[in-house]
Amino acid sequence: MNTQEIIDLEKDYIMHTFGRLPIALDKGKGALVWDVEGKEYIDCFSGIAVNNVGHAHPKVVEAISKQAEKLIHCSNIYYTEIQVELARLLCEISSHDKVFFANSGAEVNEGAVKLARKFTGKNDIITMENSFHGRTLSMVAATGQHKYKEGIGTLPRGYVHVPYGDSEAVNEAITSDTAAVMVEPIQGEGGIVVPPEGYLKELENICEENDILLIMDEIQTGFGRTGKMFASEIFNIKPHITTIAKALGGGYPIAGILAQEEVANAFKPGDHGTTFGGNPLGCAAAKASVEAIIEEKLVEKSQKNGEYLKGKLEALNEANDNIIQIRGYGLMLGVEFNHECIKIVNKAAEKGVLLNCTANTVLRFLPPLNITKEQIDKSISILSEILA
Ligand code: PLP
Repeated sequence: MNTQEIIDLEKDYIMHTFGRLPIALDKGKGALVWDVEGKEYIDCFSGIAVNNVGHAHPKVVEAISKQAEKLIHCSNIYYTEIQVELARLLCEISSHDKVFFANSGAEVNEGAVKLARKFTGKNDIITMENSFHGRTLSMVAATGQHKYKEGIGTLPRGYVHVPYGDSEAVNEAITSDTAAVMVEPIQGEGGIVVPPEGYLKELENICEENDILLIMDEIQTGFGRTGKMFASEIFNIKPHITTIAKALGGGYPIAGILAQEEVANAFKPGDHGTTFGGNPLGCAAAKASVEAIIEEKLVEKSQKNGEYLKGKLEALNEANDNIIQIRGYGLMLGVEFNHECIKIVNKAAEKGVLLNCTANTVLRFLPPLNITKEQIDKSISILSEILA
């Protein structure tokens, strides 16, 4: 099928929830993808911060193929070696002691809220305005953006929203029924909003002083995206719970709740579960993907490539009056314009660069961490042509 035929068929058979670009992708390698007509694109979006190791990474491909030949799925009522190995690896690279595996970001955020409520015996979760935590009803309730809540009726209660960046507002919102504070270290969907200096440390202290849990949603920021394995490291934070998804499986859907020992032990047999979460195929993909991040020093590459890309974007900023700010860490960078940026995204795609616009005015860069300098140069030269 060609692109138009795929688009026509999609109109007939798929619910229209996504605002898609008119591109039908067929294959990828590293930071490049090709559409069904064979047109090449530099992927500066990584499927929303998923393909951190790049497309078709040989280690991930091999791990998935080998595991698929052996055992794709078995229930969590049995043990598998690959699941416990992945769990150990995740605990080694994070500040956590135990893992619960699931399938998506929203699902692990839900699980994190359940765990926090079980552990504390309290109900309320303080979350931030302009945050994004997923699309299930409870995570729509947790999310601090009105547009996701319209027309879907009653949402679960128990979420209290305060402005992002204002630790005093968190202090004031705490009651005797507060279980946890849930926060993205850098707001992704909200427009690559970075926290003010000291903010996350203040939240950690406030949680400590008030005996409540700190849940860090690292679903977008995790696995080297920000130039550290987890963004918590940038701010020297050790959350009680961290949620991970997106880049964990190198493109295969798998997610996890990471928790400190004492908190993790609040879940007893039967308290939480999933059919697919942590199945052998997902765990094999994730183990290979995390090992590739470590062995190929992709965290360091994210830091270096991020500095390089940020420098190029700052040079563009000097030549363009419509750019308000360049911000972010590592290869999670946003360029805020004083106008909507969807037209830039469309033009960039025509010229062979995949970008994204979030919060209407923020051009978002989330390329694979192993994007080359030449690919960055080419993307920037196309962007500067568009902005000229
Ligand atoms: N939390 C954050 C910070 C996210 O960026 C996202 C997705 O963009 C989610 C949660 C939801 O993840 P998923 O789409 O896998 O449910």
